[in-house]
Amino acid sequence: MLSTTTSRIALQTRPLFVQRFYATGAGSVNSLLVVEHKNGKIGGATLNALSAASKLGGSVTALVAGDAPEAVAQAVAKYAGVSKVLTAKDAAYANGLPENFAPLLAEVQKKHGFTHLIAGHTAFGKNIMPRAAALLDVAAVSDITGVESEDTFVRPIYAGNAIATVKSNDSVKVVTVRSTAFAAAEEVADNSPATEEADAAEKPNLVQWVGEDIQKSDRPELGSASRVISGGRGMKNGENFKLLYDLADKMGAAVGASRAAVDAGFVDNSLQVGQTGKIVAPELYIAVGISGAIQHLAGMKDSKTIVAINKDGDAPIFQVADYGLVEDLFKAVPEMTEKL
Ligand SMILES: Cc1cc2nc3c(=O)[nH]c(=O)nc-3n(C[C@H](O)[C@H](O)[C@H](O)COP(=O)(O)OP(=O)(O)OC[C@H]3O[C@@H](n4cnc5c(N)ncnc54)[C@H](O)[C@@H]3O)c2cc1C
Repeated sequence: MLSTTTSRIALQTRPLFVQRFYATGAGSVNSLLVVEHKNGKIGGATLNALSAASKLGGSVTALVAGDAPEAVAQAVAKYAGVSKVLTAKDAAYANGLPENFAPLLAEVQKKHGFTHLIAGHTAFGKNIMPRAAALLDVAAVSDITGVESEDTFVRPIYAGNAIATVKSNDSVKVVTVRSTAFAAAEEVADNSPATEEADAAEKPNLVQWVGEDIQKSDRPELGSASRVISGGRGMKNGENFKLLYDLADKMGAAVGASRAAVDAGFVDNSLQVGQTGKIVAPELYIAVGISGAIQHLAGMKDSKTIVAINKDGDAPIFQVADYGLVEDLFKAVPEMTEKL
């Protein structure tokens, strides 16, 4: 239920961690953190979601489901804030299929009385959490950037143009967390939570995992890179992105793109930054040949330092840029690569 809405100009709220958070300290809060993992490694967004869960106060139980969850269960137990680990071992959970995960979440919620179900706002979390909410007959609160109290959360709306403060009156809060808004939880030496196996839940067998085709790259992952260089329609074609790859390799940066560049087929849509792409908040974001449409800004405006290269001095990207270069990118980018 949306009880209060406050609007601010999102572009004026650049600093990430200045929002007012506080733990409720309420003993009644009993959160379930849904752990995303792949190849034995915890997904980075889970650690940001853990920080959000810790801000609620109370206890945090980490749920690790998979065909071999043991190693990840051991790994997550070392993080500050995890008070218990639940494992669910079954091949049905091997690939994050929401049709199988959602009934598991509903089952463990009922058994353990969790007050909050929390996951990162990734493809995994976005797939699973609304389904789990539907099974529990509650509303999902998605993409939160702040925790005001155990029932009140902050989340961007209208592509980040306004910030809503939403209060959920549901008995169970199902929440996904924007990872760029919370620092990742850290490992601690002295954490040793109990580990327990979750009761078996229904596996509806509605879908079957066939396989996946993953783009392999030696560059850092776009969502977690500390430096990102993105190209837009101004790049003119896919071949010209080589200019950005060369610069990125010199800087140890990931490469991103605007939706116009993706729609034009210059690059794969996994590189898209923005409202309907990835949300990034690196130390350094370089926008090359990108005009700065609001939908693009929604995905990168929280970057620490923004650099824009555009031949049009009136391009809106310069309004959010810390450093701007009004120049033809085909001259500026090779020059930068050479100087580096
Ligand atoms: C519902 C919805 C969701 C959307 N989601 C996203 C999203 O997730 N991400 C996203 O990016 N967009 C998104 N968009 C699209 C968005 O509105 C813009 O259309 C898009 O971001 C524009 O991309 P662009 O800046 O690359 O292209 P343009 O707006 O065409 O800008 C190209 C820029 O390149 C500059 N340029 C051209 N040639 C050169 C040169 N030689 N040297 C230097 N500069 C040059 C031009 O001056 C211009 O500023 C969405 C739109 C909608 C409606």
